[in-house]
Amino acid sequence: MDGIVYMAYLLAAVFFVLSLKGLSAHESAQQGNYYGIAGMAIAVLATIASDAVTGYFMLIVAVGVGGFIGMQKAKSVEMTEMPQLVALLHSFVGMAAILISWSGYIDPAASELTGAELTIHLVEIYLGIFIGSVTFTGSLVAWGKLNGQISGSPLILPFRHGMNAIAILVCLWMMTYFASNPHTALSTFMLMLMTVIALALGLHLVAAIGGADMPVVVSMLNSYSGWAAAATGFMLGNDLLIVVGALVGSSGAILSYIMCQGMNRSFISVIMGGFGTDSAKAPVASGDQGEATEVSAEDVADDLKTAKSVIIVPGFGMAVAKAQQVVKELTETLQKNGCTVRFGIHPVAGRLPGHMNVLLAEADVPYDIVLEMDEINDDFPETDMVLVIGANDTVNPDALERPDSPIAGMPVLKVWESKQVIVLKRSLASGYAGVENPLFFKENTRMLFGDAKDSVQKVLKNL
Ligand code: NDP
Repeated sequence: MDGIVYMAYLLAAVFFVLSLKGLSAHESAQQGNYYGIAGMAIAVLATIASDAVTGYFMLIVAVGVGGFIGMQKAKSVEMTEMPQLVALLHSFVGMAAILISWSGYIDPAASELTGAELTIHLVEIYLGIFIGSVTFTGSLVAWGKLNGQISGSPLILPFRHGMNAIAILVCLWMMTYFASNPHTALSTFMLMLMTVIALALGLHLVAAIGGADMPVVVSMLNSYSGWAAAATGFMLGNDLLIVVGALVGSSGAILSYIMCQGMNRSFISVIMGGFGTDSAKAPVASGDQGEATEVSAEDVADDLKTAKSVIIVPGFGMAVAKAQQVVKELTETLQKNGCTVRFGIHPVAGRLPGHMNVLLAEADVPYDIVLEMDEINDDFPETDMVLVIGANDTVNPDALERPDSPIAGMPVLKVWESKQVIVLKRSLASGYAGVENPLFFKENTRMLFGDAKDSVQKVLKNL
């Protein structure tokens, strides 16, 4: 039986690698999902069939209840709630790692281990609990911030980096004692103490990260959840869990790194809870900006009739308004008028990586007119009109022009360089990072206030 299970695990691992490859491009993403589903189905069935699993009744109940809840949630979740759902799911992985590692510690079968095997087993338990705890509370804080339950501004405690460093050093020191003094009362106490410290560390690390750096945190927590799963795999001696954990851990870390580059942030500074300067800055006002100029849908439609080139820059507001379908209709109408329409996508627009790409794909907007920031950022000066639909932080000139801005250094779409900019949003309110946006007050900018879907519909009607 073992041989068949190992073969199945190998097959599942290959499917997971193919899945990741598929998910790396729009065109193959659906295929990638199918590979992932196939890999996971094989993995679960092979694990159930293995000799390690005996409690079938409990398993059926747990899979039934968990599967039912997951299915309901997947059906009901709004696209705008996806990031917080993902953060919450990461916390489950962290919790699972804590529970499995603690039960591995209490498991009487483990006490038969001796020598190096016992030491390795104890280190696996310790690391599983440590990474799982940081992931668990960190993900809960991320969920709270994204869901609006907790303030998005960074929690800046005095001596915070020192506290983090001391917590990590104390945990490392306790690990050496724990691994070399198996199952004494003191080592069990140390395991408990480390669990508490790691839970607090997770809370503090994510609470210290503010505003615009949250996307990187979500993908970092994704990575942590992978490493927590890999540590659990080592403890359980489950090769597939190790492989899958490592795939999730490393792909999450690579994604975080790419996002950091996209936002001009230091990778180390973000994972250390805003170490350095940038994310530690509290949101600030930009001073008196003057008056913003309002425009009507009729006037926007009139200008669009004569525009030869238009760039649409979508942001989180397009997701809230569920405006992607009407935006696509607007695109088609403009194209029929002989206008060149393209989309400019910022790497952190929306609330999860690829958020805008997913929405536009859902509305069947052709991929070839959807361009990444780097591909389109130099084209604004030759563009007649830019429609900023529910985007804010990602088009904020302060990121480039005000070194003291909390989003200073983050590359943004330079929409203000075009001939005219129309911003579709409900008010002059700030975006996720909580900073004011001078774009709204620029001479070539006009504001079309209202829900993005209603506004686009009105423009369409007038075209
Ligand atoms: P922002 O969050 O900066 O701004 C969105 C704007 O949409 C708001 O200012 C809001 O203004 C407007 N809006 C909301 N609802 C509607 C509606 N129904 N109709 C019209 N407008 C609406 O969006 P961006 O996409 O530009 O930036 C994303 C931000 O989120 C960045 O700071 C990024 O760092 C952060 N982030 C990104 C993540 C990612 O992975 N992509 C994850 C976590 C955070 P008003 O209320 O006036 O309508």
